[in-house]
Amino acid sequence: VFTSGWRQYRSVPIVYRIGIAFVLGSLVGLAVGQPAVELQPIGDLFVRLLEMIIVPIIVFTLLMATRELSPKNLGQVGGQVVLLYLGTTAVAIGMGLGVSNLINPGTGMTLEQTDVQTEQTPSPVDQLFSIVPENPMAAMAEGNILAIIFFTLIFGLGMTMVRAEVDPDSAVRNGIDTIFNVAEAGAEVMFKVVWGIMEFGVLGVFALMAALFGEVGVQAIEAYLSLSMTLALAIALQIALVYLLVIIRGLVGVSPLDFLRGIKEALITALSIRSSTATLPVTMSDADENLRIKERVYGFSLPLGATVNMDGTAMYLGIVAIFAANIAGVSLTLFEQLGILLTALLMSVGTAGVPSASLIMMAAVLTQVGLPLEVIGMIAGIDPLLDRLRTMNNIAGDLAVTTVVAKWNDAIDLTSGVWADVPAELS
Ligand code: ASP
Repeated sequence: VFTSGWRQYRSVPIVYRIGIAFVLGSLVGLAVGQPAVELQPIGDLFVRLLEMIIVPIIVFTLLMATRELSPKNLGQVGGQVVLLYLGTTAVAIGMGLGVSNLINPGTGMTLEQTDVQTEQTPSPVDQLFSIVPENPMAAMAEGNILAIIFFTLIFGLGMTMVRAEVDPDSAVRNGIDTIFNVAEAGAEVMFKVVWGIMEFGVLGVFALMAALFGEVGVQAIEAYLSLSMTLALAIALQIALVYLLVIIRGLVGVSPLDFLRGIKEALITALSIRSSTATLPVTMSDADENLRIKERVYGFSLPLGATVNMDGTAMYLGIVAIFAANIAGVSLTLFEQLGILLTALLMSVGTAGVPSASLIMMAAVLTQVGLPLEVIGMIAGIDPLLDRLRTMNNIAGDLAVTTVVAKWNDAIDLTSGVWADVPAELS
């Protein structure tokens, strides 16, 4: 009886089991209240397991990417990815500002005196420099993703160049082929591991949601209803119009529903753990196994996107600026809103893909337009809720851009995975 029950349980696709855990966990948290916070460590363990495989998965898939990527190709793919990342982020901020101007979140609220710690936001020059690692091993040890991308790409491109120059029978050629093969095997193994971790994720997500709602309860949502609604509406519009309609339907020419079906594991993981980087292993396996995209595009675009492309975050920075202005009773001119757009764009690029990272970047945006920083303290309590939506939007944006760039570069197989008539259920 036990084994057949287990088999039945396992036959339900993992994403549905996680979805159910998500809902049940939330309900339990609301019902139990504070004691549910004790479950947090189980959730943290899930996140740690995902974090454990980020560096190997990036290194292996990027090495595989370079096997098929000439410097010229890389330039082309890279250029398209970066332009689309910036373009979609700018649109997202516009969307956030637009919806904010309609709903006007924060009007009628008064400023609470709260303490804010405004950490120093890193300067643009420091950020650029940190892409070049002083020591690649240290970068890997610290999990500095941009630096890891930089070194791995150079190493991989170096290997393809040397491989083309040496004698086919030489030991060097042999060694390079071996490294590429090891990378291929390593990536395959990591994708296997991801699904194992997701099995544990059923418990992890239950715990995370129970702990969250045990802590914040529904009152938090009510208090900031207008702010939450603004964000939720803007994100829904961004996903539906920009990603699904324009990019997936329009530019890629495939069914938005198939696309959603292909990325559902990544979306629910982002929603549960609030970190683009920790979700990366799941995002990459969705791109690989469901969307059937080639490493030469996603191996580069997804780790980059998890670190620099944050549409939901950028949008939120804009929304909070309007929220703060409404609370302070000032109205922002169009010109000031354009300034916010630019600052939010730059700040979102610098935001780390970790929980509530935007709170730190917010200080810069608010300072720029001379708005009260106390607002950050006010909304910090509800951030564990809003952060989920932002992170899910961030991930969806990375995957939409990756899909269209893959299409343009002939790096997607639209006849298998979720695109095939018969869905290959992955669980
Ligand atoms: N948690 C977000 C992410 O990881 C960043 C943020 O907006 O705070 O993408």
